Amino acid sequence: MAAQPKKKISRVRGRTRRAHSSIKLPTLGKCSNCNHAKPPHIACPECGFYGKKKIIITKADKRIAKKLKTDKPSEPKKKEDVSKKDTDSKDKKQDK
Ligand SMILES: [Zn+2]
Repeated sequence: MAAQPKKKISRVRGRTRRAHSSIKLPTLGKCSNCNHAKPPHIACPECGFYGKKKIIITKADKRIAKKLKTDKPSEPKKKEDVSKKDTDSKDKKQDK
């Protein structure tokens, strides 16, 4: 047989014990680089800094890098297309 308690634990005694077993919210500090709320002793998930050093390459960094790569060649092409379309439409209007 399993071990049994010698005496009944009263309602108050049990509840008093359980008063400290609630889950507490984690303490949050602020990132020194971007002021984003983050738990202490952890690299910032927002900017990837730990103290003054950049440690993690975040998803946002990758997104920015992709944009910078893709934007440069595409911008001049769009401008050329727009100018061609404008001239074409003007020519058509004149024809009518
Ligand atoms: Zn940060």
